[in-house]
Amino acid sequence: MLIKSTRRPSVPELRIPAEQPAPAPESASDNDDDLNIGLLAGTAGDRIGHFVRGVTQESLQHLRYISAANAFQNVGSALGSLALTPLAIRLASDNAPLIGGLAIGGTVAAGAVGAVLGYAWLYRKDGKDEHKVKEFSKAADTALSVGAALQSLPKFVYPSVVGATDAQIETIYNALDKLPLHQATASSTMQVIPGLVKTGISGMAQPGDSHIHVLLDESYINNPNRAEGLVLHEQAHAVDYSGGFGLLGAHNWKGGFGTGPFVSGYAETNRYEDFAESFEAYHTDPEAFRLAFPEKAAAIEKISHADPLSAAADQAGVRSAGRRIGATLGKVPLLRTGLEIAGSLVGPIQTHRGASKLIEGLESGDQAQQLDGKLNLATGLFLGLPGARPLALATGIAGSALRLTSRENNEAHMEQANKWANRVLAVSAGPVGMTVGAIVGEMEANGLKMDESKGFSPDGWQSSRPGKGAMLKGTLATVGGTIGGALLGAAVGGALSGTPGAFLGALWGQAAGGVTGLAGYSIHRTLKEAKKEGDPLALTSSDKQFLKKTVGGAVVGAGVGTVAGAMGGRLLGQMVGQAFGGPGAASVMGSVGGWVGALSLAYGGGKLGAGIGSGRILGKEPLQSPENPGLQAS
Ligand SMILES: [Zn+2]
Repeated sequence: MLIKSTRRPSVPELRIPAEQPAPAPESASDNDDDLNIGLLAGTAGDRIGHFVRGVTQESLQHLRYISAANAFQNVGSALGSLALTPLAIRLASDNAPLIGGLAIGGTVAAGAVGAVLGYAWLYRKDGKDEHKVKEFSKAADTALSVGAALQSLPKFVYPSVVGATDAQIETIYNALDKLPLHQATASSTMQVIPGLVKTGISGMAQPGDSHIHVLLDESYINNPNRAEGLVLHEQAHAVDYSGGFGLLGAHNWKGGFGTGPFVSGYAETNRYEDFAESFEAYHTDPEAFRLAFPEKAAAIEKISHADPLSAAADQAGVRSAGRRIGATLGKVPLLRTGLEIAGSLVGPIQTHRGASKLIEGLESGDQAQQLDGKLNLATGLFLGLPGARPLALATGIAGSALRLTSRENNEAHMEQANKWANRVLAVSAGPVGMTVGAIVGEMEANGLKMDESKGFSPDGWQSSRPGKGAMLKGTLATVGGTIGGALLGAAVGGALSGTPGAFLGALWGQAAGGVTGLAGYSIHRTLKEAKKEGDPLALTSSDKQFLKKTVGGAVVGAGVGTVAGAMGGRLLGQMVGQAFGGPGAASVMGSVGGWVGALSLAYGGGKLGAGIGSGRILGKEPLQSPENPGLQAS
């Protein structure tokens, strides 16, 4: 993904059906061309460059599809929740499993339907107009930037309550005031429902993809002995789900929840209810809870520390503004819901637009468009990463500065700006981006020039566009990977630590399997494309050897570096934070240190691994060299 293309007159509509190998006169005179130093300077570089370009194009295309599906999923689950919850309440009479299944299961299912629809929509659209990027109007552009900035600011608006009197809202907000601001705002909408308790439940928290919606029984809210407990219990579920990636990142996996001793009979139901009951009890009487359940108390205290921005926002004035805004938005039916859905779309839309613009910029050679694409993409990725949202704001500000200082007609400036954008993009893609950066760096160190001579020209980019069929197969491989990974992860996790291990293993296996499926398919397809009869750019077996060793070395090095860096960085950050600002600062500095350590050692480890893999660092016999010309033959 970290590739630049030099500018040349653009022919955006041109599609080249067959590969047009870059003119490579140097291949014949490799041995005496002093400018071409390095293993990949000759024809091997042409072939590997061609391969890199294909995988990059394919990955960007898949990002477009995944982000479209994600946007539709957010809308789908919100609509599903709106439609199914009233139905569930009407149907369920003293039947808690039925209402839970319909309202929560239905929300998740509607989200999945939305994701499929989003994918199908883009699939159709791409078939029609060859996925040309629509020019967004200035107004839409500005709205998106403002949306991204708002999304990256700390949340301070209290949940909007519908179906409630002012007195009931007051009761609910007062209960939420017992929590730190980032937890008081963990849910976005609440609904007070007369007679909810007849369905068998007094409240429920629905984990939607755009926001969390809480149902509260009216008789409980009117009862001074029960109101606070109910609000704290339901808000606890919202806090639990907000660890990142919804149910995937729930906090209750750590801290001994789901195992005794239990604070109440209801807490024994499952780990989710244990977390909610414990959270409620902790905030009702911290001292007593801490004495009886030290491990669970420590876990609850750990997540009560906010990130630095949210902690700074936790002021009386901000809170009272947040209460007023929350209550006012609740006066207009569905207004808050609509705002939350719109907000949740900013990340996926920025990712989608970023990938589309970057592809178009690469295909037309327009550096300004490439820069826009990279910055949008980074913003979108940061918004999707738990804990990385403030970086989206930083990217937006840095992007405006880059655009201002680099005029489109100044090529040198533009090139420099694109180099900076590459770095931002690598950071926004986390350890994966760092690994890719290390691999690209190693290839450059081996003499591969990512320029027109290796096919990184507008025509070259266009010729590596995957067709619709390839996109669909890639998705199937990704989905297949998630299922396979989930099963494998469940088996391994289950063997290691029983049911909770199986759950966690399945969740992580799913993510790893999806990435493996997608990457595996992209590589498989690019290899197959190149195998087409007589293609001079098909990888030879020695090219594959080189790639395997270099990429394999980078992945292993980056993997080890990520784990070591995260652990070391966290420890170091905690020590520094503890020394200067006590436990709160220790927790914040620990997580900052963990991220910084993981990213920097992922890059360092990846670079070292790639260098060892390619043989460059240990000074081993190079896989290909002027003295070893046999490897250059196709
Ligand atoms: Zn509950």
